[in-house]
Amino acid sequence: MKFLRCKKPQPNTGKTVGIIGAGPAGLGAAGILRCKGHDVVVYDMLPEAGGMMFFGIPEERIKKDKIRQAVRELMDAGVKFMFNTKVGKDVPLEFLISTHDAVLIATGTWKTSRMNVPGEDLPWVIPAAEWLVDVHLALHGYKPWSEVIMVGGNILVIGGGLTAADAVTVPLTYEQFKGRVRKLVLSYRRTRKYAPMRETEMNRLEKLGAEIWELTQPIEFREEGGKKIVTFIRLELREAGAGKRPRPVPIPGSEFERTFDWVFKAIGVSPTPPFEDRCCGIELNPDGTIKTDENFMTTRPGVFAAGDVRHGASLIGPALKSGLDAAEKIHLYLTGQLKPARVEEIRV
Ligand SMILES: Cc1cc2nc3c(=O)[nH]c(=O)nc-3n(C[C@H](O)[C@H](O)[C@H](O)COP(=O)(O)OP(=O)(O)OC[C@H]3O[C@@H](n4cnc5c(N)ncnc54)[C@H](O)[C@@H]3O)c2cc1C
Repeated sequence: MKFLRCKKPQPNTGKTVGIIGAGPAGLGAAGILRCKGHDVVVYDMLPEAGGMMFFGIPEERIKKDKIRQAVRELMDAGVKFMFNTKVGKDVPLEFLISTHDAVLIATGTWKTSRMNVPGEDLPWVIPAAEWLVDVHLALHGYKPWSEVIMVGGNILVIGGGLTAADAVTVPLTYEQFKGRVRKLVLSYRRTRKYAPMRETEMNRLEKLGAEIWELTQPIEFREEGGKKIVTFIRLELREAGAGKRPRPVPIPGSEFERTFDWVFKAIGVSPTPPFEDRCCGIELNPDGTIKTDENFMTTRPGVFAAGDVRHGASLIGPALKSGLDAAEKIHLYLTGQLKPARVEEIRV
C-alpha cells in the first residue's frame, strides 16, 4: 500500500489544501498534492488514519501495519494530520474553506441505511457499520471494551454485502466474543449466487458456523413477553431484465417468526458529508452524495469531493482512484488552470 507518489515533494508552492477524511480517497489525494509542493492538512474525526480500511474491515482482510506504514510515509513527507476533529461539529466547514486555498471532502459513507420496517430502532437492532467501528476502536485501544455492545446468544445479521460479511465474521472469530455466540444466522433476500459479497464469501461464512437463510427478509422487530421477535417473509426471484440481478419478490402468506438476542442491520451504508442538510453553497444529489462536476468540484468553487461520499458506497480501489483523480484537478485549480463549471454543467 502506498499513498505518497514521489520520493521527495517539489518545492513549496505556498498553497494549502484541507482534506476532510483520512480514508483511501483522502490519503491518496494527500500523497499527490504533497508531492506537488502544496501544504496538506488532513482532518479526521477518528484517532488514526485509514478510514473504513482501518476501523471497519477485519485484520484478516487488510493488514493494518501496511496502512500505518503508508500513512507514516505521508507524515514524513510533511502531510499534517488533525485527528479527533469532526468537521461540522468540532470545527465548522466554512472555517476550513476560509483557511485553505482548496478543500477536499472525502468523508465516505458512515451511516447504516435504514430498512424502514417497524421496530428497527429497538436497542437490540444494531447498525452494523457503526458497531464494527466501535469494535475496532476498542481493539486498537481507543475505546474501552465496556463501551462496546458485547453481542452473544442468538444473533441475526441482515444483508449480503461486505458489511454483513464482517458482522458475521467478527462475533464468530474475534477472541473477545469467544464462547458468547450460540447461533448466528445470515438472512439475505436473494440467493448467495447474487450476493454482493460473492458466493465464495458466503460459503466461507457457512464454514465458520453461520446459518445462511437465503430468500428471506425481516419485516418487523418487536418485543413480547420478554422475547425479542423478528418476523420474516420468504421471497422468490423474478427476472429483472438483461444484465440485472433478479428481483426478490415477497411470497404472500409466507411470514414466519423467530426469536433472537441481537440483530445487525447491514443492508447498506449512506453518504455522510461533513455538515447537516445544506452548508456553504454545497449541493447534494437526491441519494445524499455530494454533487460535483467532472473536475470533482462541488457547487462551491474551490471545494472538491472524492471517494464514497461523492460516488456512493463502493470499494477501496475506486475510492482511492477517485482521490488521486481529484488531487490532479485540485492541483490544476491551485495553479490557475481550472475554472469552476457553470451550475448547469454540474453532474446530478
Ligand atoms: C464494514 C465494511 C467492510 C468493507 N470491506 C471492504 C473490502 O473488503 N474491500 C473493499 O475494497 N472495500 C470494502 N469496503 C468499502 C471500503 O471500505 C470503502 O469503499 C472505502 O473505504 C471508501 O473510502 P473513502 O476514502 O471514500 O471513505 P472512508 O474509508 O469511509 O473514509 C472516510 C473518512 O472520513 C472520516 N470522516 C467522516 N466524517 C467526518 C467528519 N465530519 N469530519 C472528519 N472526518 C470525517 C472518517 O473517520 C474516515 O476516516 C467495506 C466497507 C465497510 C463499511
